[in-house]
Amino acid sequence: MHTDFSIFRDFPITDSHEHIESREDVRKTIESYRAIFSFFGYDRILLLACHDLLDRPVDPTCSLKCLFVKMALSPKLYAFAGLQHTYDERDTAEEYLRQIRSAWEMGFDGFKMLEGKPGLRVKTGQALCSEIYEPMFAYAEQKQIPITLHATDPAYFWDPPEEEKENMRRLGWLIEPGWPSRHEIFTEIDTVMQRHPRLRLVIAHLMCDYEDVREATRFLESYPNTGYDLTACESEYTIASQAPEAWREFFLRFADRLYFGTDMDNPSPDEESIRHTWGYTSNCLSRTYLESTEDFERHGVRYRSLRLPDDVIRKIYHDNFVTRLNERPRRVDVQAFRDACQKLLENMEEDAAESDYVKLDRINLRYMIDRIS
Ligand SMILES: [Zn+2]
Repeated sequence: MHTDFSIFRDFPITDSHEHIESREDVRKTIESYRAIFSFFGYDRILLLACHDLLDRPVDPTCSLKCLFVKMALSPKLYAFAGLQHTYDERDTAEEYLRQIRSAWEMGFDGFKMLEGKPGLRVKTGQALCSEIYEPMFAYAEQKQIPITLHATDPAYFWDPPEEEKENMRRLGWLIEPGWPSRHEIFTEIDTVMQRHPRLRLVIAHLMCDYEDVREATRFLESYPNTGYDLTACESEYTIASQAPEAWREFFLRFADRLYFGTDMDNPSPDEESIRHTWGYTSNCLSRTYLESTEDFERHGVRYRSLRLPDDVIRKIYHDNFVTRLNERPRRVDVQAFRDACQKLLENMEEDAAESDYVKLDRINLRYMIDRIS
């Protein structure tokens, strides 16, 4: 795997899959993304909000922080709002429709759903094709709102090595008995797409979740408005390396519908910290895998590079992002953003819980309200 960025091909790079994961002062988060732009020489970044990462308390401020970072780093950063749940009777079809409408009107560039991840799929108790999501998908289709959906998980999550199980359970990743199968979740997505064929859906983590190139091909053939972000998982590149010709053919054929992504989050904004992130490894691994004209090794495993031509690389790294999300991010309705921060802060002030998270969330909301007043 190459780690010297000077030998990668010289194209503008857009990253269509990053998150705010560490809950911290939002000023530091802005510095993290400034540092990521500079370290990787990125042209553009898309931040995807995830309110519930399963292994930590739900972050009700996540979407608003993503939009605030977008404004701070304008016009190079784009933001998708994440769907939020309260896991009680307030989770209704009307509420989900309200969320996507208000996010779109506020100036988010699209919508992120983690709801196809088995742990969250079980926690919500709702299939992706459930009636509860129908008005939301219909609205997204009508308004042509881009959606990034996390669908299923790598196959080995269903049967991992014994020594990994405890850690995976802690993360909310381990598939427990009775949870939906990969096939069930794929079928649910097909149902959604059959009902809403114009939905602009990008499925995250191409090779993590679609290890079978025939299944990935079938999906793109069936639904012309869909695509995949690449966002790598290490083990799955080794699986893809067993069928290098088939995957290369796939990349050449669907070059207009694939998006580079790394799953990077907000590290401390210094070079050393960035080098220790998964985002750094993911960047080097993906770029070597796509670009290199030679096979390579990492940790004793041999990878078969795809040796993609320049025109395909340029589309995956840059052009497809711009086609999907435009030259510039959508304009933010600052007043609506401020009102949303204010409303959330008022709700949180009624909350008697005084955890460090709640305190930090209030500090961030007050800061964001002050800065845009
Ligand atoms: Zn992600």
